[in-house]
Amino acid sequence: MTTEIQSNGTPGYLVASDFDQTLSFNDSGYVLSEMLGISDFQKKVAGLSRSNLVHQGAELAYLLRHDPEFRSVRREHLVEAGRRVRLKDNVEILAEVLRGDLEGNRFRFFVISASPREVVRSALEGIVPPENVFGTEFGYDPSTGEISSILRASAGYGKIAVLQDLELKLKSSPDRTVYIGDGSSDLYVMHHVNSHDGHTIAVSETKSIGRVAQRTVLSENALSVLVPILEDILGWDAHRIRELFTSYGLALRDWDKIRTDWLTFHKAPTPFVLNQAAVSHASQNPQRTSA
Ligand SMILES: [Mg+2]
Repeated sequence: MTTEIQSNGTPGYLVASDFDQTLSFNDSGYVLSEMLGISDFQKKVAGLSRSNLVHQGAELAYLLRHDPEFRSVRREHLVEAGRRVRLKDNVEILAEVLRGDLEGNRFRFFVISASPREVVRSALEGIVPPENVFGTEFGYDPSTGEISSILRASAGYGKIAVLQDLELKLKSSPDRTVYIGDGSSDLYVMHHVNSHDGHTIAVSETKSIGRVAQRTVLSENALSVLVPILEDILGWDAHRIRELFTSYGLALRDWDKIRTDWLTFHKAPTPFVLNQAAVSHASQNPQRTSA
């Protein structure tokens, strides 16, 4: 498979990553709100989320277009917010590793975020080329600079639309797609990637996403997502992976592999009825009971 890719020059794997809390520590909406002195951003997001009016992740885009408190936002504010976003450690090395040649395998790294494109491009300036960064696109009023429309929101289903466009443009087969994300805005796209035999990696403990993603990696270091890529896709062992990190001047200190089953119990309300149901079931299926 790898030989075929190398000989015809088509891209090997498409790696698409979410931005907020996947490559960064905080949602860029909080950073922007803090910058503008808007204190009830979280409340506004929670209200929108409850109403199901917009796809999860698109709350900031909606507020920027429709909330009076955000009316003063101009393009330069978004760019400045991006500069203030705190990235996870070694995002630049992650991008560099994926740009390189991993034993003849080629990876193309893209970022697909529901956040404003200006914010994410600014945050990743010099790390990921702007043309590889997709975010929600706004139209601006030419006379006032005010946000006048949402041209394309890359949240929820919108992430699938961006991914499919990319796969088409790069002639990349969906089973060669890797998607990395942390939250509910990534659920649709992860289901989509899974159903096309691609690879999904979660980087948070959020149960909804952990249930869908094939692998979960928890770390403050962005390089951690390379572990499932190298193990599951390239078949590398732990020794080879440690060697790669060492070649970038990094030593892996702790690497715990834990399979977690999340369980909660509560007292059964009517144990007698349940027992009766079990007896009744057993009497109707005698051969299964005796087996
Ligand atoms: Mg996120």
